[in-house]
Amino acid sequence: MIEMKKKKTLVIGLGVSGFAAAKFLLARGNPVVCIDSNDSERIRERAKILEEMGAEVHLNVSDPSSFKVERVVTSPGVPKSVSQSFTEKRVPVFGELELGCREVDIPIVAVTGTNGKSTVVETINAGFERAGKKAFALGNLGTPVTEWVDANRPSDFLVIEVSSYQLDSIKKFHPSVAVILNVAPDHLAWHGSMDNYVQAKARITENQTIEDALLLHKDLHPHQELQKTRARLYWFGRDLDPSREGLSLAGNTLEWRGAGPQWKEKVDTTHLYPHEVDNLLASISSLILSGIGSEQALALLHNPVRLPHRLEEVGIHLGVRYINDSKSTNCHSAIAALKSVPHGGIWLVGGQGKGEDLSELTHAAKDHGVRVAVCFGRDAQVFSEGLSPRVETKLAPTLREAFDIAVSLANSGESVLLSPAAASFDEFSSFEDRGNRFREWVIDLKESTS
Ligand code: ADP
Repeated sequence: MIEMKKKKTLVIGLGVSGFAAAKFLLARGNPVVCIDSNDSERIRERAKILEEMGAEVHLNVSDPSSFKVERVVTSPGVPKSVSQSFTEKRVPVFGELELGCREVDIPIVAVTGTNGKSTVVETINAGFERAGKKAFALGNLGTPVTEWVDANRPSDFLVIEVSSYQLDSIKKFHPSVAVILNVAPDHLAWHGSMDNYVQAKARITENQTIEDALLLHKDLHPHQELQKTRARLYWFGRDLDPSREGLSLAGNTLEWRGAGPQWKEKVDTTHLYPHEVDNLLASISSLILSGIGSEQALALLHNPVRLPHRLEEVGIHLGVRYINDSKSTNCHSAIAALKSVPHGGIWLVGGQGKGEDLSELTHAAKDHGVRVAVCFGRDAQVFSEGLSPRVETKLAPTLREAFDIAVSLANSGESVLLSPAAASFDEFSSFEDRGNRFREWVIDLKESTS
């Protein structure tokens, strides 16, 4: 544990993590100044609480460069340009993850990747609990680390979801097991380039030592920059090269090569989606590297963790399956969804796109039985133009209108899949809001004809 010096600290952004960071700093006697570029009702409520605790708070401020402080804690997603002037003045700038983890003295399993982080964090957490260990799932998906530290809850392990934004500003963050699930284009506007994005992910292993483990998906092999580590390197995936240590699935045989006893087991993965197999291999490996027995770790294969808004079946109406994958906000996750939905049908795609190349997505739609892609929202036209050489498309200004078109087109035995490959903010407050609406419309549909 690192003793933190008291310093005047600027907290940029009063979202969940900034609010937690400010409370954490105030509780340790640091003078705290908070700013947010917003002044929504929720932000004002948080500001009031922090002011009562002794903080100085300024809302509707987007340029903090005039504040004289000794340290800056920034929130994930706040553009780097906002804290640039402090970096130039050599004022330390980092995130809530770094702040909280400095006071953690139990092993950390950290999970990053473009897609699958929340699912894998919850799966590893479930694995620890089944094995009788106390663990908490923290980070990007929910409870901030600083909040967990102050709640003073005894635990054997922390399982932390870390985004590329958070990794970009770490200093001493040190997981004992670090996992990189996959890397595909996302958040490039913030990072500036794919190289910067991959470099941010690579930082997960920066402070690891020979005692620690870094786990990489087999497909990350071409990314040399992710393999620069002092930790012991493990791989997971199908048909691993025999020279590599890690967890390999060949046919229905799962084989562990590496720390602890080596083993081979016959397993059934026929009930799992293809990307779910990858997520489970990552989770099982993380548990084994944390000292959990293989029998307990393998039990996870029977009941995969399936979170809401990730390929969630929300109803069957007139023989049509309705699937909510609203959490799919980039092409990589939408491709995983298209590969997972067995009978194809109607696909709802669109929203606030990320300017990605759509060719792989188009091939996946064609190869996995999409009959019509209904393109909606701000980038409906962009998606339609990208997909239409191979897939029939229809345009709809909003998701609601796209939904109605999908209902009218879908035949019994087909699916209506919402896997937007884009952010939701053009129409909704979050991916949860978008998925909840979709779910409600499906329920209304069933009620109106029952
Ligand atoms: P994250 O926390 O990284 O956003 P989630 O577990 O919330 O990941 O899943 C986000 C989206 O990615 C969902 O649409 C989900 O179905 C999909 N997904 C989950 N795991 C993977 C994976 N290994 N590869 C590709 N897509 C995935």
